[in-house]
Amino acid sequence: MTNMAQRTLPQRLLLGPGPANVHPQIMAALQQPVLGHLDPVFQEILVETAGQLRRLFGTENEVTLAVTGTGFSGMESCLANLIEPGDTMLVGVNGFFGTRMVDFAKRFGAEVVEVNGEWGRPLAVEDIDNALHANPGVKIVGIVHGETSTGVRQPIPEIANVAHAYGALVLMDAVTSLGGLPVMVDEWGVDAAYSASQKCVGTISGLAPLTFSARARERIAQRQGPLPTWYHDIEALHQYWSAQGFYHHTCSSTLVYGLKAALDLMDEEGIDNRFARHQRCGDALKNGLEAMGLSLVAAAGHRLPMLTTVRIPEGVEDLDVRKALLAEHGIEIAGGLGPLMGQIWRIGLMGYAARPENVRTLLDAFAQILTAQGCNVDGDAGLAAAEAVLSR
Ligand SMILES: *Cc1c(COP(=O)(O)O)cnc(C)c1O
Repeated sequence: MTNMAQRTLPQRLLLGPGPANVHPQIMAALQQPVLGHLDPVFQEILVETAGQLRRLFGTENEVTLAVTGTGFSGMESCLANLIEPGDTMLVGVNGFFGTRMVDFAKRFGAEVVEVNGEWGRPLAVEDIDNALHANPGVKIVGIVHGETSTGVRQPIPEIANVAHAYGALVLMDAVTSLGGLPVMVDEWGVDAAYSASQKCVGTISGLAPLTFSARARERIAQRQGPLPTWYHDIEALHQYWSAQGFYHHTCSSTLVYGLKAALDLMDEEGIDNRFARHQRCGDALKNGLEAMGLSLVAAAGHRLPMLTTVRIPEGVEDLDVRKALLAEHGIEIAGGLGPLMGQIWRIGLMGYAARPENVRTLLDAFAQILTAQGCNVDGDAGLAAAEAVLSR
């Protein structure tokens, strides 16, 4: 056994679906002195952080904060508050995270109507419209903005319009998209949304930013029975975050410093520049992979910039390639989830990891390893195609 203090951990290039590498400025913020969860200085930081989260979510929602926990704790918070046992919830399912939302919703007693779509393509708005028509009284429509399991971006504003026409609230999973793609909660008519700190937001995992509209809060206020959760009671969390000095839980000041530093970096870079950086790096990677001779999974025109899915070529072993990438190049990428396990790789370019040099490093390492595995790929063509995008 080696003590942590004496252990030197490997420097990985984290190109999976999160966590991503953390910017040095955020790492420095994480080393600031621990403050008590009720310290007035910390409460000031909470209030400022909530303001920055509002801008990032594109909302004026008063209830905007970060719950302690990972992305799924954000999903849990939203569903625990919004679903009453017996409510009908419609969930769009065309990937792993949609199926997860179905599981969560059922645990809170929802009758779930699934609208299934092909994995790798966006959901059809007409299918959602038809399902809402066939199932009157749907209370909430749940949809994943960026399906990290397939690399697909979904048409949220169109889906939200349809949901509202039937009087349903809209819940959006913005775990992968927030910080890497525009998320416009108010403009799109989203009633509740959650994310995670470790993907395109760019800090370490442990916080789930979320936001609730006034309509969502009204729904919560009208609940018949008590909330099935104490920890995720959104109104109580809001009281804590609005610095009214109420003890709710011992919120980690360190995690919040990291989140605030990540949001500060977005302000420094300019949010549009940040989105453009993700897009350029994602496009370069996709072009490079295709020019190399590999095929992409997500349908053209609906691809996420920050998460690229690529088919594993015939005769190549998923794990052999990923193990070699990690051992020989220190690069982490991910395999497929659910039915796509062993079929695809998932390559993330999120937050600080979304940089041109990482695109080049990955393409170069990938070509070397695939060639060593007997796969016929053209590494030079891949790099040239990526460069053509990066130099734009
Ligand atoms: C990663 C992810 C989650 C889960 O987040 P955790 O931080 O792993 O709990 C949920 N939804 C989507 C779309 C994700 O990409």
